[in-house]
Amino acid sequence: MIFKLQNSINQRVVVPSGFGVELYMKREDAIHPFISGNKYRKLKYNIEEAQKLGFKKLLTFGGAYSNHIAAVAFAGKTFGFETIGVIRGEEVGGKIQENSTLLFAQSCGMQFEFVSREVYRNKNSEDFIESLNHIYKGFYLIPEGGTNLLAVKGCEEILIQSDINFDYISCAVGTGGTISGIINCSQPRQQILGFPALKGSFLQEDISKFANKLNWKLILDYHFGGYAKTNDKLIHFINDFKKENSIPLDPIYTGKMMYGIFNLIKKGYFPVGSKILAIHTGGLQGILGMNKTLKHKKRPLIE
Ligand SMILES: *Cc1c(COP(=O)(O)O)cnc(C)c1O
Repeated sequence: MIFKLQNSINQRVVVPSGFGVELYMKREDAIHPFISGNKYRKLKYNIEEAQKLGFKKLLTFGGAYSNHIAAVAFAGKTFGFETIGVIRGEEVGGKIQENSTLLFAQSCGMQFEFVSREVYRNKNSEDFIESLNHIYKGFYLIPEGGTNLLAVKGCEEILIQSDINFDYISCAVGTGGTISGIINCSQPRQQILGFPALKGSFLQEDISKFANKLNWKLILDYHFGGYAKTNDKLIHFINDFKKENSIPLDPIYTGKMMYGIFNLIKKGYFPVGSKILAIHTGGLQGILGMNKTLKHKKRPLIE
């Protein structure tokens, strides 16, 4: 079976008036109702490679609500691979029934290996990979978050010819694979803005390894306290945005990016006449898990 992905449409978004900018969202979330569009693009050439090399199993790593875990499980089912997910947190193993991401992955046939946070931290060590190979024998390894050279190649297909008219292109950043692909297929005159979903400065270096141009910049002010952290302002923004534009945003990546873009527009960051394209990378499967946490804390929910 061949891995084929269609181009996504760009949808106009209502922006704060009086600033003279136009904003569109590239609906990569529409690639699949549950799987993050960018995660699927990152898998495309990895799946092809695994098929070419004759592998029957895919093994990867992720947290309990990982978009990447869901995507690998689904791709494995679609393309006939067994899948193994090494999941952070031993305690998660007893709570699969409460976890929509893992239930979905399991329904796609994924097997789980739950490991302590300590073991997980050393997941790239030779000893650990060796011990996994002992149990699962002969797997194609996909790194956490799915980012490698072939993943970046997949993300170089996000922009298409008609996108050359945009002045700014923005995307949410986790491991940096997606933005690297976007940089590589952008025009040198376009500015690529990345909104990291987590704190830390390692990203700059990681992206530099994959990116073939210097027309990019990370905007570090909109992580809302760190990965998977939220506040009520962000949740209200996501709900208002959906009402106004009929576009759902996820609370971990795309919600923070759009909040950031709106904030920058109001601050006059973009010159009058700017055309901005924001990539909707998906992540909507994470809303269920986040709402569970929010409900527990008696905070507003994502509608
Ligand atoms: C993983 C993910 C990202 C970040 O992608 P990276 O290539 O890891 O930087 C952005 N948005 C969504 C919805 C994701 O799932």
